[in-house]
Amino acid sequence: MDILLMGPPGAGKGTQGAILSEERRLPKFATGDLLRDAVKRGTPLGQRAKAVMEAGHLVSDDIIMGIVREELARSQAANGVIFDGVVRTVPQAEGVERLLGERGRRMDAVLFFDVSDEEILARLDKRRTLEQRADDDPAAVATRLAAYRQQTAPVLDWYAKRNLLRRIPAVGSVEEIAGRVRKALER
Ligand code: AMP
Repeated sequence: MDILLMGPPGAGKGTQGAILSEERRLPKFATGDLLRDAVKRGTPLGQRAKAVMEAGHLVSDDIIMGIVREELARSQAANGVIFDGVVRTVPQAEGVERLLGERGRRMDAVLFFDVSDEEILARLDKRRTLEQRADDDPAAVATRLAAYRQQTAPVLDWYAKRNLLRRIPAVGSVEEIAGRVRKALER
């Protein structure tokens, strides 16, 4: 099963993705984690992505599609993947559809973690103190939210038209939200 997790930064995709990955025994694949690791290690990919990420902008579709192609080629990804924040533009949605199609697969469900802006700002502020992520500072957060609204929100419509979108109200305890995720996937 291939499941995509979408939602604004701080919506809880990472937390719920980890739970889902364990329950479904599928690898969780987060482009954000992979890119942060590349930046930390100073690899060529990390060097290309560092400034863009720290400012809160989106990394280019070309770079993302290269990363997704590599992930899907791994044997661990053969039975499906939990895609966490991987699709953030319409061209990426089209690219992922193509790459899955080459393997006779398609996205099975897209979970949209829905949270208000006020809640997001409060959560990211808290995360900044806990995790010290450079892109959680207020200027970068504003840029990330703008990128989300302009480039990522239209992707929700793209999946809604294909009848794949399932909205998860993402305020509540981790366990409550995990319960909503389970229910949404039964439908
Ligand atoms: P995240 O941890 O998912 O919030 O991602 C952190 C940052 O990595 C984002 O703000 C982007 O700069 C970059 N990034 C991660 N995934 C993507 C993607 N699918 N498309 C473009 N940029 C991405």
